[in-house]
Amino acid sequence: MQKLQICVFKYQGAYRLCLVRHPRHLGDLSLGAAEGVAILSPPLSSTAAYKSLGIWQGRFRGRWSRLWWALALRQTHAKGWTVKAQAAEGQERVFDVLDRLRQLLEGRLLSEQRLMRLLRQEGFWPSDISRALDLGVQRSELRQVPGFVQGSWGRLICSRCQSEEAQAFPCMVCGSGDCLLCLECRSMGEHRSCSVLFSLQASPRPAGPRPVELSLTYTLTEPQKQASQALRQFWLRGEGKALVWAACGAGKTEVTFAVIRDVLQGGGEVLFAIPRQDIVKEMADRLRRAFPHVQVAAHYSGQPWLAPGPLVVATTHQVLHFHRRFHLAILDEVDAFPYQGNEMLRLGLKRALQPQGKLVEMTATPQAQREYGQIITIPARYHGFALPEPELVAWALPPWSVLQAEDFPAFLLDRLGGAGHPWLIFAPTISACSALHKVLAEVTDKSVGLCHSKVPDRAEVVRDFRENRLEMVVSTSVLERGVNFPGVGVMVLYADHSVFSVSTLVQMAGRVGRTADSPRGTVIFAAARIAWPMKKSLQLIRHLNDQAKERGLLFNEGTA
Ligand SMILES: [Zn+2]
Ligand SMILES: [Zn+2]
Repeated sequence: MQKLQICVFKYQGAYRLCLVRHPRHLGDLSLGAAEGVAILSPPLSSTAAYKSLGIWQGRFRGRWSRLWWALALRQTHAKGWTVKAQAAEGQERVFDVLDRLRQLLEGRLLSEQRLMRLLRQEGFWPSDISRALDLGVQRSELRQVPGFVQGSWGRLICSRCQSEEAQAFPCMVCGSGDCLLCLECRSMGEHRSCSVLFSLQASPRPAGPRPVELSLTYTLTEPQKQASQALRQFWLRGEGKALVWAACGAGKTEVTFAVIRDVLQGGGEVLFAIPRQDIVKEMADRLRRAFPHVQVAAHYSGQPWLAPGPLVVATTHQVLHFHRRFHLAILDEVDAFPYQGNEMLRLGLKRALQPQGKLVEMTATPQAQREYGQIITIPARYHGFALPEPELVAWALPPWSVLQAEDFPAFLLDRLGGAGHPWLIFAPTISACSALHKVLAEVTDKSVGLCHSKVPDRAEVVRDFRENRLEMVVSTSVLERGVNFPGVGVMVLYADHSVFSVSTLVQMAGRVGRTADSPRGTVIFAAARIAWPMKKSLQLIRHLNDQAKERGLLFNEGTA
């Protein structure tokens, strides 16, 4: 990162201030008609330079501006800061770099460091790159942002992720002893108060219409068709953001394909954001199959960030690299870590959209329904049966640290023993899982597996369970989503524990009754007291069932 210097020049009687990487570049800024140029500061880190620029702008707008001008000229001269007004040499090369910068930055927000590295790899000279950056900024073609910007009450805010979580460290880059480092977005590469970001808004008008073929090898269910149609209407006429609220296992991803096609056909660009990195690749493949002639770019860490294409699949962190680019953004699994409650990614997503862009969020457990202009539900699964509703059981198990076989309540044991189907038993922590695993192996005659993040052969346990070699598995929330065990029943023990949020409980209940072979099943939440998330999750599931019934989507209820 190069430092910035503040300059002032007089042009047609008015004072104009600017920032440059080197006073030599002033020659590029067509200052031929300028009535003198003065340098106001030594090279400063970007955050300091912008702060100081604000102060100087005030001075040159105020009543003492002529005095400041005279002082500035004298100081520039006295300190021997040279101002060259001619830099015609190499201008063509500089315009070449500027062209390339425009291509790279369109719809993106990138650091100077990253741009420098790439352009140098492409064979451009560092001096030409910094001249082009200065030229682009002064011509208002590129937007330049300092590492940190001043918020209210003098607080400094990271301009990449909007966080205030920063700490001062000695900096190898700018040489300062207390250069701020953002602690929040560190995982994407260090961002400091001497960092500089560049952006260029993509053209708000979509490119011309293009033919887009959507190829699906399956047909949508009736509730999916209705949701898909509602999304297309939202794109045409809706405002702000819409929520797609789908029952677990009702298939929400597929309902977005038609609206994605509409936007792409109109020449627009679409972002599909997913919190979890492991699903980005899978999702990109699915979209490639659905849109065989569309270039689909997958952005996740370690992947080429330049991957082109009008349809972008990205982790929510990678979304921070985009700036006012997309006409439609779809955020899958709003309730999953790390998006939930993460202000940084919320702002990033908003920034990645065109000013008039629209946002669709998808979830199985909506938290704040009031903030959406429209709520579209997919309340029923394809097989036309209602979602299994959890039974809330108040029963105090002793703390798991002292849990003995004889403490396990007989009525829960009866349920486990008499059901004739496999059970997925959730517990809040690893130690709770281990304790329950031991107790259940003792009190039942069933084969019991154990699954949590510290179990090395976790995948094997999952396979054994799926292939019926295990009759029960005790697990932490690692099996809360993304897994499918036909015919399974779910029991959540210590369900009032604080790790069990509404969304976790809904997802756990959502493991049950997913297939047409066994569309029903048992869900039990047991705890010493019925906590709010237990009640709320039951309420959400019931609400979807009521909706499904009202809309006539439970066509198989009563038949089996
Ligand atoms: Zn940050
Ligand atoms: Zn620094």
